[in-house]
Amino acid sequence: MEKVIAVIKGDGIGPDIVSQAIRVLDKTAKIFGHKFTYKYLSAGGDAIDKYGIPLPDETLNEAKKSDAVLLGAVGGPKWDNMDGSKRPEKALLGLRSGLNLYTNLRPALMYKALSDASPLKREVVSDGLDILIVRELTGGIYFGEKKKAEDNSWASDLMKYSTAEVERIARKAFEAARKRRGKLTSVDKANVLETSRLWRRVVTEVSKDYPDVELNHLYVDNAAMQLVKNPKQFDVIVTENMFGDILSDEASMITGSIGMLSSASLGDGKFGMYEPIHGSAPDIAGKNIANPIATILSASSMLRYSFDMDDEAKAIENAVEDVINSGYRTFDIAGEGSASLGTVEITDKILERLV
Ligand code: NAD
Repeated sequence: MEKVIAVIKGDGIGPDIVSQAIRVLDKTAKIFGHKFTYKYLSAGGDAIDKYGIPLPDETLNEAKKSDAVLLGAVGGPKWDNMDGSKRPEKALLGLRSGLNLYTNLRPALMYKALSDASPLKREVVSDGLDILIVRELTGGIYFGEKKKAEDNSWASDLMKYSTAEVERIARKAFEAARKRRGKLTSVDKANVLETSRLWRRVVTEVSKDYPDVELNHLYVDNAAMQLVKNPKQFDVIVTENMFGDILSDEASMITGSIGMLSSASLGDGKFGMYEPIHGSAPDIAGKNIANPIATILSASSMLRYSFDMDDEAKAIENAVEDVINSGYRTFDIAGEGSASLGTVEITDKILERLV
C-alpha cells in the first residue's frame, strides 16, 4: 500500500521523538511491502518563528490532502508570553477542528514489567493495564454558548449534545471495543443531566447494532472512583468531552509513565491525527534522552486505525513490549539509579525486534 503521512515535528522534544517513529515506520514499510511518503509541515512555535502564526493555512491544507497526520508536540517557554490566540497550542485546536476530528482515543496502557511505575498499589495493577478511553472531542460544554454578566456577577457555559453527535462517537467506541476485548462502559451523569440522559438513550440504541459488544453504564463520579479502585475491570470507556478530558488524565496517571502513552484523534472515515499525550518537554529537548515510545505507539495506532494495517501495528507493539520486558528503559521509566538508554538507542532495540 502507498500512503502519504503529514509529519509535524513541532517544538522541544518533538523533532527528537518523531524522527525515531519515522525510523520504525520505515522498517515496518520495508518488512510488509508498503511505501510511506512523508510531507513535513510546520505548526506551533516552529511556525510562529517561521511565519508569525501557529497554524499556517498551508499546514492545514496539506494535512487535509494526506492520509494521516503524525505530530510530536508543540509549545515551550520561548512562546509562553504570547497572547492566547497566537500561542503554539492554538495550532492543536485549529488542527482538530479544521480536520473535523471529533473522536479522541487515549489508551492507558501499562506493561506488567512497569507495574512499579504506577502510583497505585502493586496488587491493583500487577498484571499491567490496558484501557482505551474514547472521548468526544468537538461538542459538549467546551463548545457550548458562553455567557457572563457585564458586572461579572454570574457566568454560564451551555452543555449541549445532538443525537447525531452522540451516535457517531458511540459507533467509534463500539468499533474499537469490537477490535479489543468486546466490553464498553459508557460514562455519563444521567441522574442529573439532560444531555447525559440523551447520551445514555442513544448509546443504548446504537448497541443494538453491536450484539457482540457487552455494554454497561456508569455515572462519572463512580467511574472516577472505579478507575483507581479496580482499573482492570475496564476495556473501552466512552464519554463526553469534559468527562473524557478528566478521566483520560486520571487513567494515564495510573500507568505512571507519561512518555509511553499515545493518542489518536479521528473523524469520519479513516483519516486521523496521531500524537503522544505528553507535551514538548523543553527541559530535556535535544539531549537524546526523551522516551520515544509514546510517539512510536502513536505511529502504530495510525497504521491500525487509518490504514487498516493490524498486523503491522501489532508487530510494532510486540517489539516495544519485548524491549520493555527485556529490561531496557529510558531514564523516565528506569527508576532512580538504574541504567538507561537514549532516545536513539532504545529505538535501535525496538528496530532489532521488529520483524
Ligand atoms: P510535558 O508533558 O512536556 O512535560 C512534563 C514532564 O514530563 C517534564 O518533566 C518532561 O521532561 C517529562 N516528559 C514529557 N514527555 C517525556 C518523554 N517523552 N520522555 C521523558 N520525559 C518526558 O508537559 P509541560 O512541561 O507541562 O509542558 C511543556 C510544553 O508542552 C508547554 O509549552 C505545554 O503547553 C506544551 N504541551 C503541548 C502538548 C501537545 O503538543 N499536545 C501537550 C501538553 C503540553
